[in-house]
Amino acid sequence: MISNKITLIKNNITKTALQFNRIPQDINLLAVSKTRPVEDIIAAINIGQNSFGESYLQDAIPKIQVLSNYKLEWHFIGALQSNKTRLIAENFDWVQSLDNLKHAKRLNIQRPINLPPLNICIQINISTESQKSGILLDEVINLATEIAMLPNLRLRGLMALPIACQNFAQQRLPFRTLHKAYQNLQNLGLVLDTLSMGMTNDMEAAIAEGSTLVRIGTGIFGERKKG
Ligand SMILES: *Cc1c(COP(=O)(O)O)cnc(C)c1O
Repeated sequence: MISNKITLIKNNITKTALQFNRIPQDINLLAVSKTRPVEDIIAAINIGQNSFGESYLQDAIPKIQVLSNYKLEWHFIGALQSNKTRLIAENFDWVQSLDNLKHAKRLNIQRPINLPPLNICIQINISTESQKSGILLDEVINLATEIAMLPNLRLRGLMALPIACQNFAQQRLPFRTLHKAYQNLQNLGLVLDTLSMGMTNDMEAAIAEGSTLVRIGTGIFGERKKG
């Protein structure tokens, strides 16, 4: 059951946080509801979950509209394309997958003025050999500085999605690198509070390395259909 699984994940977050000398409340849970039906999301809402992650815009918009009477926070975590930025700026509260200035400028212009600034995480390509999304680490200072100047965006932090691996010590390495980049930006004066890292299979390693937001899909809703 979805409610039981959320409870299990939360207990695991607490246990892992304490094990690594962290404050459990500093780690937030994003329920990744991409491809899931509205009923599954309502089951999660009923146990107190209020933030959800979606990757596919056409799949997400109807769900956001149907659930608009609930007070929810929607995070876009999928690949961005120029022709999608307007609907994202109009319907989401967060974009975690921003990786270039062109899309940042479009989101900034397209964000409706009656809404608060769009919360942003810059996606970092932390396992360079395997991925196409995200910017390289040595470009992050430039992009972060530019985004921080856009009035309708609010830069909150960094996000990454390392290649899957099962070994705990190895899982920790890219997360450690990301945490250092995050602290580096903070040291440069940017006010950031979100280090979005960790999914179902590497959540503990991400918490050990400083994650403040874990993005959990399978662990809450079960296996996704391959598509
Ligand atoms: C699908 C997805 C997740 C959730 O992955 P699970 O392994 O199902 O927990 C997290 N982050 C991003 C960016 C995703 O696309």
